Amino acid sequence: MPSAYFATRALLYFSAMTDIVSRCEWGAAPPKLVETFNGPAPFVIIHHSYIPRECHSNAECVKAMQQMQDFHQNDRGWNDIGYSFGVGGDGNIYMGRGFNVIGAHAPRYNDKSVGICLIGDWTKNLPPEKMLRAVRKLIQSGVEEGNIARNYTLLGHRQVRDTECPGQTLFDEIKTWPHFSPRPSGPHDDFTPDS
Ligand SMILES: [Zn+2]
Repeated sequence: MPSAYFATRALLYFSAMTDIVSRCEWGAAPPKLVETFNGPAPFVIIHHSYIPRECHSNAECVKAMQQMQDFHQNDRGWNDIGYSFGVGGDGNIYMGRGFNVIGAHAPRYNDKSVGICLIGDWTKNLPPEKMLRAVRKLIQSGVEEGNIARNYTLLGHRQVRDTECPGQTLFDEIKTWPHFSPRPSGPHDDFTPDS
């Protein structure tokens, strides 16, 4: 039955898109400490890793996640990988600290945001479409599951601290996405970020 076959394929594709690669699956070290905050998070902050560079396969992206966690835990001395989630050039979403866990990616926003890192250097190149689609899907499902506020504000890292992150080309892209705000405070006018 071709129609059943294609329906099954479509279902598998859809579930593959919404899957999040677990910490166990990417071989994460345990966090030193987990501190939570009450959601839903009012901010979504977009990052690039710059280094590691873009990864193209699950094996490469697993390695990139491990490298970032090792750098953050052992060189920076943080509790865990700084980001809430990583997204790879393979189109997969990788669990970082997860939703409602205080991150280490954007000072003063760590306890009120979801930090999503698009693995790679996006200063000159745009991430592949499947990577951008995975990010939008992650945000959408976060809203649907009540982990991200329905009226969330989307920001690039550079809007809340002195950094070129998430890269000029990626920053130009997210400016066109729903909920992007040119003001770092978004709708929260009394909120003044660090420079
Ligand atoms: Zn960043």
